[in-house]
Amino acid sequence: VAGLQKTRDNIIAGVDSIFSGFSAIDEEFYEEIEEILIMGDLGIQTTMSIVEDLKKKVKEQGIKDPSECKQLLMDSIREQMDLGENAYEFENRKSVLLIIGVNGVGKTTSVGKLAGQMKDDGKKVIVAAADTFRAAAIEQLTEWARRAGVDIIAQQEGSDPAAVVFDAVAAAKSRQADVLICDTAGRLHNKKNLMEELKKINRIIDKEYPDAYRETLVVLDGTTGQNALVQAKQFMEVADITGIILTKLDGTAKGGIAVAIQSELGIPVKYIGVGEKIDDLQKFNANEFVNALFH
Ligand code: GDP
Repeated sequence: VAGLQKTRDNIIAGVDSIFSGFSAIDEEFYEEIEEILIMGDLGIQTTMSIVEDLKKKVKEQGIKDPSECKQLLMDSIREQMDLGENAYEFENRKSVLLIIGVNGVGKTTSVGKLAGQMKDDGKKVIVAAADTFRAAAIEQLTEWARRAGVDIIAQQEGSDPAAVVFDAVAAAKSRQADVLICDTAGRLHNKKNLMEELKKINRIIDKEYPDAYRETLVVLDGTTGQNALVQAKQFMEVADITGIILTKLDGTAKGGIAVAIQSELGIPVKYIGVGEKIDDLQKFNANEFVNALFH
C-alpha cells in the first residue's frame, strides 16, 4: 500500500522501539502501546479494545517476551477491523453511487478518480453534478469528467439536486451506463435539509431506476483524525451509509483512523485517497493496511 509512509513511520517507529526497549511485559509496556495507538489516531475506544485483546492473547499463550507481541498486536488490530471481505458489488451490476461529504474533504476529486478508474476498467460511467450549491463544484466536476473521459450531467448552480439526478438516471438508462456516480451535497449544519434532499434523490432513483444496485459512500478527510469519525457518525444519522472513502492519507500520520472507523462504526472503508492524481485512489484492504503499517 503506497502513500501511507507518514502513518507507517509514526506507528512503526513507536511500536518497534517498545518491542525492543522493554525486557518484560508489564503495565508500563501496555501503556506505551496504548499511547502509540492513540497517537496514530486509532481512538481511545478502539485502542482499549485492542490492548485488552492483546493482554488476553498474551495470557492465553503464556508469552513472556515483548518481542513476541508484535505479531499478536497486528492480529488484534486486524480482528478489531474485521468486517469480512470488502464487497465491490457495483463493479458487476448496473449501479448508482451517491457520494456525500462536507466541503473540502476531497469529494469531487474522489468522484473523478473513481469515474476514471472504472472507465479504465472498460465500464460506461456517467457522473452527475448533484452538489448544485456552489458553481465551483460543478466546474470542478466538469473538469474531472473531461480528464476521466466520462459523460457528465449537470445543470446550473442552485438548481434542484433531485432534478439533476432525475436527468442523470434518464441518461444512465438510455446510454446503458454501467455506473452512475452522483456528486451530492453534505451540508451537515442543516441535517434536516440534507436528510430531505437525500430522501428526495433516493425516491427518484427508487421510482425511475428500481433495478439499479445502490450505495451511499461518505467521503472523509483522513487528516482530520478523530473528527472524521465524528463526521461519519453524523452522516449515519441522515442516511444509510454503505461505505467510506478516506482521503488524504498520503498527507497524514493519522491513518489509524481507518481502524477506528471500521471498528467503532462497523462501516467498511472501501477506498483510500493517497494523492491528488487520478490513480491515487486505492481499494482498501484491512489486512494489507495492517501489514503496511507494521512492516
Ligand atoms: P470537495 O470540496 O470535498 O469536493 O473537495 P475537493 O475534491 O475539491 O478536494 C479538496 C482538495 O483536497 C483538493 O485540493 C484536492 O486535490 C485535495 N485532495 C483530495 N483527495 C486527496 C488525497 O487523497 N490526497 C491529497 N494529498 N489531496 C487530496
